[in-house]
Amino acid sequence: MASDGITSKAVPVAPNPEEGDGTVVFRTVAKVTDVHESGNSVQVDFEDSASHTIQTITGDLVIVADGSTSSIKKILLPGATRHFAGYISWRGAVPEHASKKYAEKFVFQLMNRNYLLHYTIPTDEGNLDPGKRLHNWIWYQRVNEQELNSIFTDINGPQHQGTVARGLLDPKIWEKQKAVASKTMPEELSQILHSTSSPFVSKIYDASLTKAVFFGEKLFLIGDALTTIRPNAGMSTTYAAYAVNELEKVVEGNQTPSR
Ligand SMILES: Cc1cc2nc3c(=O)[nH]c(=O)nc-3n(C[C@H](O)[C@H](O)[C@H](O)COP(=O)(O)OP(=O)(O)OC[C@H]3O[C@@H](n4cnc5c(N)ncnc54)[C@H](O)[C@@H]3O)c2cc1C
Repeated sequence: MASDGITSKAVPVAPNPEEGDGTVVFRTVAKVTDVHESGNSVQVDFEDSASHTIQTITGDLVIVADGSTSSIKKILLPGATRHFAGYISWRGAVPEHASKKYAEKFVFQLMNRNYLLHYTIPTDEGNLDPGKRLHNWIWYQRVNEQELNSIFTDINGPQHQGTVARGLLDPKIWEKQKAVASKTMPEELSQILHSTSSPFVSKIYDASLTKAVFFGEKLFLIGDALTTIRPNAGMSTTYAAYAVNELEKVVEGNQTPSR
């Protein structure tokens, strides 16, 4: 935790490096544009958004973890695709004081061919104090093609392939969704949804590549870039964390890569 040295309300003191730890450099305005083998190394090209220049670094080992829309996997495996899983997730967060009843409650609200998850999360600043946290909710729902098209057309007109971000959801669409919540959920749970000021909605995709290891074990794809698991009950984050632990064993020579 806080290996980046950044402090927050939840982690007021970042831990010191341990003996033997190396140096880590986080580059926050760099977009990787290409990777290729170069002798015994891997060359990584990236665009530095601050200086608007293309720069290059080389490494003995490169780990590609650029998420479900990975542009690097498309370079490594040009035929890689992902498939819409047939359902979407509506999401939002509201201050904890919106409902005492649901504070710290982990709720599975099962409905007809759709369900909602609710749990308490810290604020963006990492505040975990009781009463100061957030209610977080995720509502998974099956939709047909026509509904999909209208939900993913944002307030300004463009269609989105993955997520309609906060502030872009058409209010008419959200009003309709709130009416469904009023009809199908317990009143106080529905109220949490009604008091959400900027919900957002995402399509759920399945994606799994046939190859994770490239350039003679010098480049590994992991996390969502390799396999996008449906996010039910935290499964996709759990999988990404599991992959990190497994890769550590490979890097330390205690396990051979499976692919
Ligand atoms: C809206 C939404 C809701 C989700 N909800 C849940 C949930 O409730 N439960 C659950 O388990 N999972 C959920 N997930 C999935 C979860 O976020 C992922 O499984 C997890 O974050 C995967 O981790 P990752 O490190 O592989 O990729 P990510 O966390 O996606 O990280 C990829 C990183 O790579 C960076 N990047 C991308 N392209 C480049 C590039 N070219 N150059 C440099 N950097 C790049 C991105 O900026 C990002 O920081 C959700 C995902 C989304 C989008």
